[in-house]
Amino acid sequence: MNPYLKHDEWCIIEEGFVPENTRASESIFSIGNGAMGQRANFEEKFTGSTLQGSYIGGVYYPDKTRVGWWKNGYPEYFAKVINSTNWIGINVIVNGDELDLAKCKVDEFRRVLNMKEGYLERSFIAEMENGIKIAVKSTRFLSMVDTELGAIRYSVKPLNADATIELRPYLDADVRNEDSNYGEKFWEVVDTSCTPKISYIVSRTKKLDFHVGHAMRNFIALNGNIEHIQPEVNSSAMFVENIFKVEAKAGDEVTLYKYAAVISSLNHEKGSFHKVLDKIIDVAVSKGFDKMLQEQSDAWADIWKHSDITIEGDVAAQQGIRFNIFQLSQTYTGKDERLNIGPKGFTGEKYGGSTYWDTEAYCLPFYMVTHGQKVARQLLLYRYKQLDKAIENAQKLGFTGGAALYPMVTMNGEECHNEWEITFEEIHRNGAIAFAIYNYVRYTDDKSYLVHFGLEVLIAIARFWAQRVNFSQEKGKYVMLGVTGPNEYENNVNNNWYTSTIACWCMEYAEETINYVKSADPAKYKELAEAIKFDEAKEVEKWRDIRNNMFFPLDEKLGIFLQQEGYMDKEQILVKDLDPEERPLNQKWSWDRILRSCFIKQADVLQGLYFLEDRYDTDTIKRNFDFYEARTVHESSLSPCVHSVLASRIGNVDKAYELYLRTARLDLDDYNREVKEGLHITSMAGTWISIVEGFGGMRVRNGMLTFNPLIPDKWKSYSFKVWFRDNILKIVVSSTQITIFNESESSLTIKVYGVEHKVPGSSSINVPVQKQLF
Ligand code: BGC
Repeated sequence: MNPYLKHDEWCIIEEGFVPENTRASESIFSIGNGAMGQRANFEEKFTGSTLQGSYIGGVYYPDKTRVGWWKNGYPEYFAKVINSTNWIGINVIVNGDELDLAKCKVDEFRRVLNMKEGYLERSFIAEMENGIKIAVKSTRFLSMVDTELGAIRYSVKPLNADATIELRPYLDADVRNEDSNYGEKFWEVVDTSCTPKISYIVSRTKKLDFHVGHAMRNFIALNGNIEHIQPEVNSSAMFVENIFKVEAKAGDEVTLYKYAAVISSLNHEKGSFHKVLDKIIDVAVSKGFDKMLQEQSDAWADIWKHSDITIEGDVAAQQGIRFNIFQLSQTYTGKDERLNIGPKGFTGEKYGGSTYWDTEAYCLPFYMVTHGQKVARQLLLYRYKQLDKAIENAQKLGFTGGAALYPMVTMNGEECHNEWEITFEEIHRNGAIAFAIYNYVRYTDDKSYLVHFGLEVLIAIARFWAQRVNFSQEKGKYVMLGVTGPNEYENNVNNNWYTSTIACWCMEYAEETINYVKSADPAKYKELAEAIKFDEAKEVEKWRDIRNNMFFPLDEKLGIFLQQEGYMDKEQILVKDLDPEERPLNQKWSWDRILRSCFIKQADVLQGLYFLEDRYDTDTIKRNFDFYEARTVHESSLSPCVHSVLASRIGNVDKAYELYLRTARLDLDDYNREVKEGLHITSMAGTWISIVEGFGGMRVRNGMLTFNPLIPDKWKSYSFKVWFRDNILKIVVSSTQITIFNESESSLTIKVYGVEHKVPGSSSINVPVQKQLF
């Protein structure tokens, strides 16, 4: 844990310059706008350790796969979201000395991520090698309104002498990824052009021919007044620069305004780049920095209006949840159906920025409840559009008849993952994709989604499961062999309870949806059945047979579902008995030792109890929770949230709170000492789930919103917003009372602790908090 950031309700604050924290802070202070994002690299030159990162949504590179032992079925490439042109760069030269925080004395360093208004600010005093002291302040943001625009205000003030200040804003397309498999550079230049007014670089990826275009226009002000200075220009193959020289008296403030336009061939014709860039820059210039910043603040006010969670009495927890909501909201906005949510978003290279089951299993509820139904539907459509590729993917592995296996990791629908025990065996991901459809329809009642898109996906997934099992003569049951459950600390196991359970559930839900679509829109059903050659009678009969005769490992004595067959053969040690020095296990133990141990990386059986909670009674959930929580090391950031929700479900609020804290401040406090690689964006949605579904106990049952709120002792109160169909509700829970405000005009009937309440439009109701829930 490295808790070096200040606690504050709305801002992330770093005070003092500690070079060892640079990479971590670059991740934490990342900014984005859904279309692009970047790490909080310094504008000025920095020769210390840094990971340059400026990413454009959807622009990726198919980096040739690198594995030790090639297996048939592996993908040829791993899709990487690539570091693209550095447009934030501003070299600063004072009396001939270049500013570089690695080389000068730094005082009063302060960096602030203003989450309320969506910008990043940094200020410091630097004593240069030549003895000149300067005060520097920068403010930058990626516009939420004009999503192809970024802006920087960068001021330098000589403090102890008059000085010649050179400010050299530039665009540099000669950038690389640290994780390039073969050290290859991914970019080559198409054209550069540098004028005192506007400069451009257009570059293209060496494979797939994505073009990206960047343009910059710069202005200089002295003590707040724009100076009409013509900069010198300088350029080379992949670099363009403007050079402004200003003679400043001690105490004068020289400010550079840098506007940058960032576009890609995903949205614009390749031949039209300069024209498009000109237009975008014109928008920035006509608005000016202050207006753009005001618009940014307004846009964020709008986001917070629907998504904010307040926690009274615990600043660290308040900051944690807002940080998570902020990062999720700037990673994905739902405006572009081709984009999705990478586990690291736009904050680092790890995981390639592609889509994992994380989206459906963890992120969907957050976006659905706070950003609205359309955004959630967009996430489902992303997978619908990739169904053909999922069918091809299954075919590659030997499946037939329109069976689909969605990839473990993807950018365009093709599998990118290349470890056999995950690529081929961690197939439970198919279940999360089906579950997301169910979850969406349950919440929104948008059954038309099933008719037009959902059913086709559900049948293809059910077809996969029906082929993936086999009938064991010995057991007289269907079994599922050679799988990896969500707990990746076990590979190639037989009859993983979660995978078999979600598989059966998928077949059941597919059948239910067939029946629905058949009666709601028989013509559409017929058309689909013909198109996919669906032999309903035969296929559904087979699904039923599998469901009715599936083997599920159980321990009857303990009354628990077994993670997989043979789990109880392992030496049963509890996490509490592990030497803290030996954790995290994935850094301290050999992989072999981990695989043989009983320790669980992330929720597995409990993941199933979380998804299908309504099928299990509280005692069953409690027995399984107590057994598995004691053996789970939570070395996946996705794990604690599921445990936290279930702890709330069984009324164990202290445990729920302990697990909540692990997820909420995972990155801010750098629990796993890896935040330098980027933020855990997808698990941030789990933090939100821990509050809303966990403490708030929110569920939708029979089309009705229900709540079973609890409150951790440390909190005076908490509140969250719920956008449910046509209503927006604010739920405030204090230690004694729950207040539900209906912010919409129409009334809504909800349940609190199992009792129905009608909440009239534009008014509120109060219900006393119940201590004993179950
Ligand atoms: C987890 C997976 C997850 C991936 C990306 C892994 O560590 O075990 O469940 O999909 O990270 O977040």
